[in-house]
Amino acid sequence: MIIEIAEDAGFCYGVQRALNMINRALERGETFNTLGPIIHNPVVVKDLEKKGVKAVNSLDESDKKTIFIRTHGVPPEVIEEAKSKGFKVIDATCPIVYNAQLSARKLYEEGYLVVIVGKKDHPEVKGIMGHVDNSAVVINSPDEVKNYNFEGKKIGVVVQTTSRFDVFGDTVREILRTAKEVRAVNTRCYVTERRQEITAELAKRSDVMIIVGGKNSSNTRRLFEVSKMQGTRSYHVESPEELKKEWFEGVERVGITAGASTPPWIVNQVAEKIKSFTKEV
Ligand code: SF4
Repeated sequence: MIIEIAEDAGFCYGVQRALNMINRALERGETFNTLGPIIHNPVVVKDLEKKGVKAVNSLDESDKKTIFIRTHGVPPEVIEEAKSKGFKVIDATCPIVYNAQLSARKLYEEGYLVVIVGKKDHPEVKGIMGHVDNSAVVINSPDEVKNYNFEGKKIGVVVQTTSRFDVFGDTVREILRTAKEVRAVNTRCYVTERRQEITAELAKRSDVMIIVGGKNSSNTRRLFEVSKMQGTRSYHVESPEELKKEWFEGVERVGITAGASTPPWIVNQVAEKIKSFTKEV
């Protein structure tokens, strides 16, 4: 059996940058909490807890006076509130997410009704929403466009960084049917975009695909979707323990990829576990 790990599997640029910022802050002797789990990975979150860094749901929950903002970013009022309550803020908003926030703000200031293509309850989308004074419409699929009246309006579109390109493009096309003017800014993450392309290529030459990452991680779920769309039998797991020997019976080629918040050592453990099945057969 040939096992191939996608060349870019594991931590993305934004997550690695945030983890480096955490490590540097710990080395400086700073004590702080993160607003929400730093990444969708329980192993990393637990490891940080051991180092005294807790994930808190609100500023009021924090027993430390420094707060760390994760890659997803937050609405500006959260930073303002933190500062007004005397918190020091370490902001690890990914620069690619920051670009989406700025693009939305610019469209809003230029008089466009902002549409965010993405998931309403995703922290990144909530953060972007805050940058347009909560005035945006959030649409998750082209089908949802019919629920809004854009007739004669100037619409500015941005997209959640981890969304699929076809969903973004199709949604813009649907809006164009009625709107007076549409200005779309492609705020998708090029790292995610490349990862989805690599996943599709790998899935095409594999009999089985294993996608490793948190079940609540948007970008991991997208990779799972992309893999299935190639017609390849695909499984989404968080850890090697979830793998089942029968998935690999009679299989010649296995592809492995992983979401942006999956540590590289978990990807390697998954590959090792699959190898151990072949020895048992
Ligand atoms: S997936 Fe892209 S936007 Fe999200 S943190 Fe990673 S690099 Fe940044």
